[in-house]
Amino acid sequence: MSLIDLHTHSTASDGSFPPKEVVRLAKEGGLKAIALTDHDTIDGIPEAMAAGARWGVEIIPGVEISAHFPGGTMHVLGYFIDYTNGLLDERLAVLKQARADRNPQIVAKLNALGIPLTMEQVVRVSGGGQVGRPHIARALLEAGYVSTTQEAFDKYLRNGAPAYVEKFRFPPRDALAMIREAQGVPVLSHPFTLELGSAYALKNTLLELKDLGLAGIEVFYSDHSREQEALYLKLATELGLLVTGGSDFHGQNKPEVALGTMPSQRKVTYKLVEALREWQQENINHR
Ligand code: AMP
Ligand code: FE
Ligand code: FE
Ligand code: ZN
Repeated sequence: MSLIDLHTHSTASDGSFPPKEVVRLAKEGGLKAIALTDHDTIDGIPEAMAAGARWGVEIIPGVEISAHFPGGTMHVLGYFIDYTNGLLDERLAVLKQARADRNPQIVAKLNALGIPLTMEQVVRVSGGGQVGRPHIARALLEAGYVSTTQEAFDKYLRNGAPAYVEKFRFPPRDALAMIREAQGVPVLSHPFTLELGSAYALKNTLLELKDLGLAGIEVFYSDHSREQEALYLKLATELGLLVTGGSDFHGQNKPEVALGTMPSQRKVTYKLVEALREWQQENINHR
């Protein structure tokens, strides 16, 4: 049936498996194609492409960029990006620097709260890629300061908690533009995290995003209810947006989510990949 997964993370960001291991798991799970969509980085892609060639799994070079969206969380997926594009690399470097500045500030806040965690402990659990809050949560767990990573978020790390530190994010317009400039197809991740409250508000936001270049929305997702899935499918049809699906696999850093699994899994087939590619051919000028 040619099943696929268009949303996965590796140790290049906050997944627990290196890119080549994610690809091997895709092979084991019988997936025809996966997109590697690490947060704010494309550093894992060359390794994933090489492993894909070796295991016979098609790898769609991707990325998931965090955008500034007060009141909620906006992530934009980019598919079929030219990961050799220098401009994309430059923009992502800005986000990497923002993380590098922020992580020690979070650790300093934890220290001030009486938790003697060090950056060294955090980096040790990160697997060598970009460091983020999930790694800090893991380090807090491993050092015995919390009993679950969720507790680490709830007590210290979530937006508004005592050790939270803001991080620079590009506005949605720029996040979409940087994907399109790298020949990619921009898709809104897990729309519920925008926290828009009503279908009407979501529709209006999707219309605005479409004007800014959005191509599709993630309809099938591990945390979507059947109702959310149905709503997003309806909005995609009404607004002429592409439909994608992915698990948001993070390995051991999100153990309840397995690669290639989401409600309506059997609808997440290679047809979605073909539609992405067609959109790219029709809408992006290849230079
Ligand atoms: P960062 O990019 O360092 O800000 O970390 C963001 C990641 O932390 C997200 O991709 C989620 O996986 C995780 N995260 C953010 N907020 C929460 C929360 N309230 N509970 C659990 N995980 C969260
Ligand atoms: Fe993540
Ligand atoms: Fe996301
Ligand atoms: Zn993700």
